[in-house]
Amino acid sequence: MSKTELEIHPDKVCGRAKDVIRRLQKAGYEAYLVGGCVRDLLLDKTPKDFDIATSARPEEIRRLFNSCRLIGRRFRLAHIYYGRDYLEVATFRAPHDDNDDGGKVNDEGRIIHDNVYGTLEEDVWRRDFTINALFYDPSNGELLDFVGGLDDLRNGKIRLIGDPEKRFREDPVRLLRAIRFAAKLGFDIEPSTEAFVQPLGILLDGVSSARLFDEIIKLLHSGDGWNTFQLLRKYDLLKNVLPLTDEGIADDDTGAFARMLELSLRNTDQRIAEGKSVMPAFLYAVLLWFEVNYISEELQLKGMPENQAIQQAATEALQDQVDFTAVPRRYSNITREIWALQGRFRFRDLRRASVLVSHPRFRAAYDFFCLRAQSGEKVEGDCEWWTAFQHAAPDERPELCKDAPGKKGPPRRKKRRKSSNAKATSAAPSAE
Ligand code: ATP
Ligand code: MG
Repeated sequence: MSKTELEIHPDKVCGRAKDVIRRLQKAGYEAYLVGGCVRDLLLDKTPKDFDIATSARPEEIRRLFNSCRLIGRRFRLAHIYYGRDYLEVATFRAPHDDNDDGGKVNDEGRIIHDNVYGTLEEDVWRRDFTINALFYDPSNGELLDFVGGLDDLRNGKIRLIGDPEKRFREDPVRLLRAIRFAAKLGFDIEPSTEAFVQPLGILLDGVSSARLFDEIIKLLHSGDGWNTFQLLRKYDLLKNVLPLTDEGIADDDTGAFARMLELSLRNTDQRIAEGKSVMPAFLYAVLLWFEVNYISEELQLKGMPENQAIQQAATEALQDQVDFTAVPRRYSNITREIWALQGRFRFRDLRRASVLVSHPRFRAAYDFFCLRAQSGEKVEGDCEWWTAFQHAAPDERPELCKDAPGKKGPPRRKKRRKSSNAKATSAAPSAE
């Protein structure tokens, strides 16, 4: 074990976390900041949250803090609430095998229950990466590094603690976490860890779709979505979590879908950097668009009306996707609306255009429409016209509609996925 005095500026540690740690220590328990916050503070980045690890058991934590709630079955945790915010406090865990009370591993080596409590030294070994296993005591400024995490931080390495294959099998989500941290920090995955990332991707099939949905959002909505997406492709993991997206990129001979993904993820990263909100519903609208568009056009070729075809295509694509990642209905309903409104951008008569711009999903649907155009997809409708129309005063709108194509709009296209150089003025997914 190596102990290092560090230069984490005490002012950068959240005051509430310091208070909770002090109170646990006063009650006779060990307590440290741990995980991402220590890593980020050492890298001079702003931590997303401040996680605490302690020798106190969940029940003991609850007795000390009035606003404490215990959560989780697979992994029991204490949340200490401050209004709607909370701090997460975890009891030190020990490694375990199937015979231990509270711990369970399935036939593939996957951890199903992880509630065997232990010491700090034991807790270190069940954390995922060395850079996530640093412990910091804000009361005395002490940094504990048992696994070479500081060296890996200095050298920009993502390294699993222990035997990488075993650790990935225990929890295949670590495959995605390796990619997330590599993208977020600009680090390399160290070769002995990296060697298993692609070969073990298949294990993600055994992870619950709800957990994978959460992870997809973390991967693509954390501000480094485009980098992350490229790494998911590099390690060929897209097929295990977003297979329709993966196939869409391969099947699209125009390249428009790949451009749409890039533009959208870059826009999303930029919005996050500017502190703007982003919508999972929009993200899924993009990720599944190639498939939805493809199915819809096939159905229309068979004679199904456009509205019905897009609805059926949406149902099929979402059903296929939820076998991999859940898409909660509160999001998928909006995703469907974004798709369903696309056909209405070709009508520029005053009545229909006015109805469309006042639709509650107009802004998201318009952003999506512009994104398609900007990506080089051949769209029916003119993004710039819609930009002008939505911003025009009510008395200016009839004038805009005067020169618009006839009520039925331009002729329907016959062939799908032909590229064009249509220009859009904006493709940023907007907040609701
Ligand atoms: P972020 O900045 O994204 O919050 P983080 O490192 O804090 O990064 P969390 O998901 O908040 O990530 O997890 C907190 C800590 O818990 C990690 O740093 C790591 O030590 C441990 N941890 C989280 N998930 C796992 C896992 N699947 N396997 C092992 N350890 C994990
Ligand atoms: Mg965290």
